[in-house]
Amino acid sequence: MENQKTDFPDSSIYRAVFRRNMQACALTRLRDAVLVDVNDAWLEMLGFTREEVVGKTTASLGIWQDGVRRSALLARLPDGGSLGVEVTIRNKQGAELPVLFQGTRFSQEGESYLFGSLTDMTGRNTQNLELERSRGLVAEKQQGLEIVLNNMAQGILAMDRSLRITQFNKQLLELLEVDKATMAGFATAADLLQYQRDRGDFGNNFEWVETSSRPLIEDRPVDDGPDQYLRKTRQGRTLEVKSRRLADGGLVRTFSDVTHFTKAQNALANSEARFRSLTELSSDWYWEQDAHLRFTLLVGETFERHFGDSKNFLGKTRWENTAMVVSADRWDEHRSRLTSRLPFHDFECQTTDRNGSTRWLSISGLPIFDAEDVFSGYRGVGRDITDQKLREEENQRMAFYDNLTGLPNRRLLLDRLAKSLVTSGRNRAHGALLFIDLDNFKDLNDTLGHDVGDELLRKVAHRLVTCIRQGDTVSRFGGDEFVVTLDNLSTNLLLAIGQTRTVADKILTILNLPVDLAGKKHFSTPSIGITLFSGASVGVEELLKRADLAMYQAKAAGRNTLRFFDPDMQASVAQRAAVEADLRLALERHELVLHYQTVVNRMGRIMGVEALVRWMHPLKGMVAPNAFISVAEQTGLILPLGQWVLRAACEQLVQWQSESASKGLTLAINISAREFHQPDFVERTLAVIQATGANPNLLKLELTESLLLDDVNDAILKMGALRKWGVRFALDDFGTGYSSLSYLKQLPLDELKIDHSFVRDVLTDANDATIARTIIALAQSLGLQVVAEGVESEGQRELLSQSGCQFFQGYLFSKPVPPEDLALEAIASVFSVTNVAPLE
Ligand code: C2E
Ligand code: MG
Ligand code: MG
Repeated sequence: MENQKTDFPDSSIYRAVFRRNMQACALTRLRDAVLVDVNDAWLEMLGFTREEVVGKTTASLGIWQDGVRRSALLARLPDGGSLGVEVTIRNKQGAELPVLFQGTRFSQEGESYLFGSLTDMTGRNTQNLELERSRGLVAEKQQGLEIVLNNMAQGILAMDRSLRITQFNKQLLELLEVDKATMAGFATAADLLQYQRDRGDFGNNFEWVETSSRPLIEDRPVDDGPDQYLRKTRQGRTLEVKSRRLADGGLVRTFSDVTHFTKAQNALANSEARFRSLTELSSDWYWEQDAHLRFTLLVGETFERHFGDSKNFLGKTRWENTAMVVSADRWDEHRSRLTSRLPFHDFECQTTDRNGSTRWLSISGLPIFDAEDVFSGYRGVGRDITDQKLREEENQRMAFYDNLTGLPNRRLLLDRLAKSLVTSGRNRAHGALLFIDLDNFKDLNDTLGHDVGDELLRKVAHRLVTCIRQGDTVSRFGGDEFVVTLDNLSTNLLLAIGQTRTVADKILTILNLPVDLAGKKHFSTPSIGITLFSGASVGVEELLKRADLAMYQAKAAGRNTLRFFDPDMQASVAQRAAVEADLRLALERHELVLHYQTVVNRMGRIMGVEALVRWMHPLKGMVAPNAFISVAEQTGLILPLGQWVLRAACEQLVQWQSESASKGLTLAINISAREFHQPDFVERTLAVIQATGANPNLLKLELTESLLLDDVNDAILKMGALRKWGVRFALDDFGTGYSSLSYLKQLPLDELKIDHSFVRDVLTDANDATIARTIIALAQSLGLQVVAEGVESEGQRELLSQSGCQFFQGYLFSKPVPPEDLALEAIASVFSVTNVAPLE
């Protein structure tokens, strides 16, 4: 034995290691060969119960029948000596068993014992045994208890009731880093402790890791219960120290190296802490369910905020907890995923929160399988997506409904109209489209402000809704335009027209009623264009065009009335479409040309020219701009057309700049509303000027009143930007619009052009003469040049000149002609001789 102070076989430690030993062991009293104790391995090997053998001899049990040989062997064995022999024994059933018997003889309180172990040798050959023996293994195994102790993974320190060391093993020395000789020198546990303390174990290096009760070092009360704690060793290993009180008052302390375990535990604790902070920081929540999909865990602040204490949800399934609203399809899909134990992502459902409000959840989960691959539940995350859903709904609403009136917007109208066409094709019923435009809405907006305008639109919307049946639609098409569609009218066209007329009359009447706006009664009227449809032979776009056209007819007929679309209109629609297609080709085939008309001063001197576009049509010959500019405007073709005009005109200007006769000539170019309203109008224009090298100081852009008034601020900005480069502006066709003087003053204009409709009758119509004179006076007061357009006779020129007009344009001087036909010098000379104006 390692230590002579042993007190076994009574000690509990002995019993523990003896009984637990994997090797079959028996303790025999030598005096009478009676078995004092056997361990479980021994009983198992020989097939007896403990009661059957304790107190009996192996000979009487028939185990070791050769009693003579046994006695001879033992007689030679001194106290403390060991032996090892191969013998054949019998088990309870009488079957023979070759074993290696290894025994150690020792004495305890005057009594001699034999501690023996049996190794089953069945199947082993003697040669191997010899080998083992020669290697000293056998001898080592003979150390009995010591071997057991020393092979234990734990370090063991046994003490008696006075804490005197009675037993320790190799592992203890290793774990405490004390060598064998040093250890042997310690009488008590206190000596060992002192040594460790002196060495510095408990100084910087000693570290309590955790104690479940008081740390046990030295002054430990003898009658204390089990104690357990962790400590670090000098090498940094973590030891779990457990102390157990024995029946005799002694103490056994075990030291287990739990470094790996605590590391794993720490890692686990860390990952748990990380997980916890993740759920704390995230608005998602985490959940786990058992194999019956009942919640076993639910953590997350957001969850509790909406649904209350998560504990109330445990033990129940999701659908047992709260009523869920999911479409049948989606629910089936989800269910089949659950039963197939498949993962699911972003499963969306509606449920009710603790306050009874509806909330949207999005849930994702993964199935869990245990080590045997058996399904044990789901785990996953949940998220509240109510805000996102509400936003989506709002976006949806905004995409299809008009914000101001709440009516379906153009997009939804087109969608519904397409469906109506299909339905009417199927049931042969007629449908009708009513295009409603408020008369003079712009004036109201301009005079009373947008808020009042909006209020009117809302009230009109409300009134329109009261005029229609269920199934019909009122939508806001944009601005002051509304569209009503009527479905399911008669299959008979005449009857259907009658039905539509009834609704349209009702709309006319109701919209003619005074409206209360900003505390005042206001009268508003509509113009209504109507077209009927049956089936989808005519597309949605075409129907809208027809109703729009009919609406313009209603306007032309004096407003506040309705017009049905008729085939004559159809003809003009068709013609317009033909022009459009043709014009597209005209641009590609370079069929457009510019003609130029001169502008002269009072002395007849040519001051500038105006570029006027012409279309040299291969079949129709020369087409005037009035026949195609408006189509170009409506279709957007005006943009490439305008760019072409600007470039061609600028190139011409550059050419004139290089010739002495035409050097200072200004060039006027007509700009249409759609061109001017392009956000990059300024940049495009400057780019052409730059590319062609034209002198911007000689360029004049002609704009119309209505164009400028669409958005005065935008006009001011754009004109200002171009003016910085020297480009000037003229107001074309002046007198035909409704310019307010305050606007005129704000705009950076250089020139007014009196529309030729006033010039034409200036000699015969006193009104026109007055208007012409007024315009000239106005221009003078605003510091603007004034040009009279369409001057055809000397009389007209004379009168206008006397009224103060400085510049003239018209057939009297020149028709618009190709540039090569412009007789610049000739014309200048004619008038410089004959018409020297007195006022100049
Ligand atoms: P506008 O800018 O007012 O051009 C003057 C129009 O009056 C021209 O018609 C011209 O030929 C005509 N005119 C000139 N002198 C007389 C006259 O003594 N008697 C009569 N009865 N008419 C005269 P045109 O060339 O047919 O152009 C019509 C309109 O088309 C122009 O009116 C202008 O608004 C537009 N336009 C012409 N060229 C272009 C262009 O390149 N771009 C754009 N956007 N519009 C253009
Ligand atoms: Mg013009
Ligand atoms: Mg004009």
